[in-house]
Amino acid sequence: MTSELTYRRRHNEMEQPAAYYGKPMKLIHYMLREQRLVFVLVGIAIATVAFTLFSPSPIPIPIPIPHYSDQLSMRSESSSLAQSRRIEYLTGGMGSVGGKIPLGLKRKGLRVVVTGGAGFVGSHLVDRLMARGDKVIVVDNFFTGSKENVMHHFGNPNFELIRHDVVEPILLEVDHIYHLACPASPVHYKFNPVKTIKTNVVGTLNMLGLAKRVGARFLLTSTSEVYGDPLQHPQVETYWGNVNPIGVRSCYDEGKRTAETLAMDYHRGANVEVRIARIFNTYGPRMCIDDGRVVSNFALRKEPLTVYGDGKQTRSFQFVSDLVEGLMRLMEGEHVGPFNLGNPGEFTMLELAKVVQETIDPNAKIEFRPNTEDDPHKRKPDITKAKELLGWEPKVALRQGLPLMVQDFRQRVFGDQKQDTTTSSSTE
Ligand code: NAD
Ligand code: UDP
Ligand code: UDP
Repeated sequence: MTSELTYRRRHNEMEQPAAYYGKPMKLIHYMLREQRLVFVLVGIAIATVAFTLFSPSPIPIPIPIPHYSDQLSMRSESSSLAQSRRIEYLTGGMGSVGGKIPLGLKRKGLRVVVTGGAGFVGSHLVDRLMARGDKVIVVDNFFTGSKENVMHHFGNPNFELIRHDVVEPILLEVDHIYHLACPASPVHYKFNPVKTIKTNVVGTLNMLGLAKRVGARFLLTSTSEVYGDPLQHPQVETYWGNVNPIGVRSCYDEGKRTAETLAMDYHRGANVEVRIARIFNTYGPRMCIDDGRVVSNFALRKEPLTVYGDGKQTRSFQFVSDLVEGLMRLMEGEHVGPFNLGNPGEFTMLELAKVVQETIDPNAKIEFRPNTEDDPHKRKPDITKAKELLGWEPKVALRQGLPLMVQDFRQRVFGDQKQDTTTSSSTE
């Protein structure tokens, strides 16, 4: 009995806190005995989980994320704005505030916006971005583009299509902006020249403002037209051009030149990461059938091959898959540019007509028509810079690419047998 009491007393003494004894070592011993430390740690863990799950959050409970499948990718502009505003609200309008992002809102993959993504070049670019798993938002007012060009992505949760005119501001949260929105064919951009200037200037300003706000990288699709009727041949990026500022093509030429200026000013003044591509004549499947460009007119072939002027003016034609590869390399790379992206193979319009006769229709007749105003006499890119810094050069020769385009046109116009019009078929 005595011994048991003695034992209990000793035991109780050992359980007294260190303050009682005034010796820190004893507290350590006390904690280590009978796994008390483990119980304390488990208690802390349970309290932390309970606090995280049940405590009122300073961030409001997120509004349910819209069902992409319901929208079949055709989201109204307002719902998209609401979504982006919601995320902006959650992040305090600062893109990322570095705080804890609620579960389900964490980003996966790259978010890319393609303005003009329902157009000819844009839709091929979208195909490539989607294929590599990016989340792609197409912003387009369907002036020259169409839903048909991107409808094969409808229903894919990584794809969104917003009917929106870039002349109006828009709020989105993205990592990359490919800014293509602008009619490219002379027939289209001359149709409403003031609108063309607004698209190039105000539209580009808005997209640069967006890039600045969310810290996105911005790629501008400029044009070889910035060289005007060039006095230097072939055209190198350092050439400043020979542009008529008051002619019928000026809305496009000067519009794109101003867009380049804006891009560089946002780069220098607001540290926006910009990329500038100067695109030379591009052709391929999904070109607008009635856009009046020479390759479309020749590919359509419901009339004789209409050669404007004496047909001695030259152009360099690149297949669309080559361009898309160049645009993506430029966006991913570290160089601002500008970079010429074009095929250096140079053809007179008469030579082009002969290629069409050789590869498509030997019976095609050539008919001369008066040329249009301010038509540049020569155009051929010097692509040394793109070769060296982007490791890029075109792969598809005109003779290979033209038949692919003609197949696509025939299928669309005359309903010929189904043809594969994707870009991959031509490059591989
Ligand atoms: P495209 O006309 O097929 O595509 C342009 C797209 O932009 C269309 O879907 C159109 O609906 C959309 N768009 C036009 N204005 C808009 C606006 N205000 N708001 C929203 N969307 C608008 O032309 P493309 O050949 O695909 O050209 C794409 C880009 O490449 C253009 O910026 C063009 O200037 C440039 N580019 C093209 C070529 C070429 O040969 N295709 C050559 C040089 C430069
Ligand atoms: N802008 C936009 N989306 C954004 C941020 C800006 O459309 O997410 C537009 C904005 O409406 C403005 C333009 O981009 O007209 C330029 O924006 P910036 O912030 O550079 O200039 P500011 O608004 O100060 O004139
Ligand atoms: N062109 C032509 N026949 C046509 C359409 C155009 O000879 O049916 C000429 C036009 O005069 C220009 C060249 O082809 O010299 C390229 O014109 P396009 O409109 O395709 O593009 P641009 O380079 O002028 O933007």
